[in-house]
Amino acid sequence: MKQRIVITGAAGFIGSHLSEALLDGVDNLLTGDTANISHLVNRDFTFIKHDVTNYIYIDGPVDYVLHWASPASPIDYLELPIPTLKVGALGTHKALGLAKAKGARFVLASTSEVYGDPLEHPQKESYWGNVNPIGPRGVYDEAKRFAEAMTVAYHRFHGVDAKIVRIFNTYGPRMRVNDGRAVPAFISQALKNEDLTVFGDGTQTRSFTYISDLVDGIIRLMLSNVNDPVNVGNPREMTIEEIARTIIRMTGAKSKIVYKALPTDDPKVRQPDITRARTLLKWEPKVPLEDGLVKTIEYFQTKIK
Ligand code: NAD
Ligand code: UDP
Repeated sequence: MKQRIVITGAAGFIGSHLSEALLDGVDNLLTGDTANISHLVNRDFTFIKHDVTNYIYIDGPVDYVLHWASPASPIDYLELPIPTLKVGALGTHKALGLAKAKGARFVLASTSEVYGDPLEHPQKESYWGNVNPIGPRGVYDEAKRFAEAMTVAYHRFHGVDAKIVRIFNTYGPRMRVNDGRAVPAFISQALKNEDLTVFGDGTQTRSFTYISDLVDGIIRLMLSNVNDPVNVGNPREMTIEEIARTIIRMTGAKSKIVYKALPTDDPKVRQPDITRARTLLKWEPKVPLEDGLVKTIEYFQTKIK
């Protein structure tokens, strides 16, 4: 029988890729774009323009609620501190309320940011994190930590079959040219032969996951009986300078690297321990960085003339 899936944040980068698996979407277009989902309208997909910090009304049965709404780029959440806190707190409450009312399964898009500037490396799900609640990134990190607490409370207290995916830096087509995160920023700069802006000395590390690997991990978690948080991310770790140089090489740009101030509380390292995803979901990433970058660069070439 056909299942009905509601996704908040459907017009965003990850939400639009999830929506391709035939979901219903809710989004207030804060950082999203209907162009990301316009190709779905003739399929079995309904789009609802709505701010999910307010009561979410959906007619009829719902089998899954995937809560993806939230600014995700540091540039966005530094510009939108209160909407970020509200969608993580009030929006998660409303999305969980919808799941509870419909008897639907729930999946929360959480983040590696719950680990903050981690003192444990690589990060296992059992690590509690090192987050500054009153620093500029606190609006995002603490909203997601609250969202996890609320999700677990609905699971324990109301019996909602709730899942939490801790997503590590993901990249791919449909990220915005001016998104501000490292991969879209570097590709946009390289395609314009502008210098690449590396923050700090570029020795901080991240582990980059291609979008199709992430979507595969999310769908496996959604269909599983796992309720504990699961890291989904590619364990290949590299410095920011290394990814900047890789993008210069792959685009053939004449750009140089320029060093800018490191943002406050920028995590120094980040690498997922994916033992849980490997054993419980039989998931692991398949797309090598260079292959994912080729597809992402091709997409950005269509956006930057
Ligand atoms: P994005 O900015 O492209 O998408 C977020 C979407 O949420 C946008 O379409 C935006 O309009 C929508 N939105 C924001 N507030 C809303 C509200 N109040 N009501 C309805 N819609 C609202 O970002 P993304 O990279 O696709 O991230 C999506 C989710 O995944 C976020 O929850 C983010 O925290 C999580 N995540 C992403 C990454 C990553 O690397 N991309 C990493 C960790 C976690
Ligand atoms: N970064 C950078 N130049 C940019 C954008 C980001 O050097 O133009 C750095 C940023 O300081 C961080 C890393 O790249 O150390 C990843 O940043 P991003 O915004 O992609 O995500 P984060 O992991 O910090 O949430």
